[in-house]
Amino acid sequence: MSLDDEWITEICEDGGSAFALKGQGKLFEQQSAFQKVEVFETETYGRLMLIDGCTMVSTRDNFLYHEMMSHPVLFSHRAPRRVAIIGGGDCGTLREVLKHPEVEKAIQIDIDEVVTRAAELHFPELCESNGDPRAELMFIDGIQWMKDVSPGLLDVIIVDSTDPKGPGEVLFSPEFYSACHRALDEGGLIVQQSESPLIHMAILERMYRSLQAARFADARTLFFPQPIYPTGWWSATIGAKNTRLGDFRESDVATKAFETLYYNAQIHRAAFAEPEFFRKARRGWPV
Ligand code: SAM
Repeated sequence: MSLDDEWITEICEDGGSAFALKGQGKLFEQQSAFQKVEVFETETYGRLMLIDGCTMVSTRDNFLYHEMMSHPVLFSHRAPRRVAIIGGGDCGTLREVLKHPEVEKAIQIDIDEVVTRAAELHFPELCESNGDPRAELMFIDGIQWMKDVSPGLLDVIIVDSTDPKGPGEVLFSPEFYSACHRALDEGGLIVQQSESPLIHMAILERMYRSLQAARFADARTLFFPQPIYPTGWWSATIGAKNTRLGDFRESDVATKAFETLYYNAQIHRAAFAEPEFFRKARRGWPV
């Protein structure tokens, strides 16, 4: 990431591309035991958080990511009561999960407390549900927590992690998916941010193969825009422990008592429509 006196630039090496926002000064910087966390004010996207120079969340467009990381998987589960979020330190996904009245417990496990403290200071709107009695925030390695959790304890796991490098790499491993499979109850679902379909098809294929190796019965990818991430076109992949994916609680979406800015039943259906190149590549993948 380079910062001249005006522009905040994220260089995406594997995409051979860069993304920049016009900056208006740095608000926060801290090197934690795991990563470097920075927050900037920008001219048109509100506040912007970077972790190790990678864009994480902005005031302006985070609704796309946080809504699509939570509502499709929760409405695809028949009764999501017990939810674990691995990562998610900015707390935006936790806020969306807790909008669902049937959720009785939402545990967020992020390895780095600095991310959450920075979000509390500079993205307070994302942290507005942190005091919900159903919420529990923990600061340990997600894979260790998942290995220790009792079998069948969870209905939905949301892996809102950084990219598959640094502390986030382990969250894309077969070992982690096996721990998730064991932690999920019958009918359980996992969703993980699965990078950009335009430049990260190898990561997506590895995820499908790892989900299959961990004995997940089905997997589907949903696609959505996310301007601040490399290519601006992002994805999340859902794995089903022992059920088939496809149906969702459409009437519950239509009658939901909470507001969204992007997600609705039409977006839910459209997000799972597979681009032709993905559909063809997907035929060779397991699950
Ligand atoms: N939306 C972002 C994206 O798609 O890149 C992710 C947002 S969130 C800030 C990513 C979080 O994953 C960070 O807070 C980071 O600390 C956390 N994380 C990385 N590795 C982790 C691990 N092994 N266990 C738990 N949390 C982890």
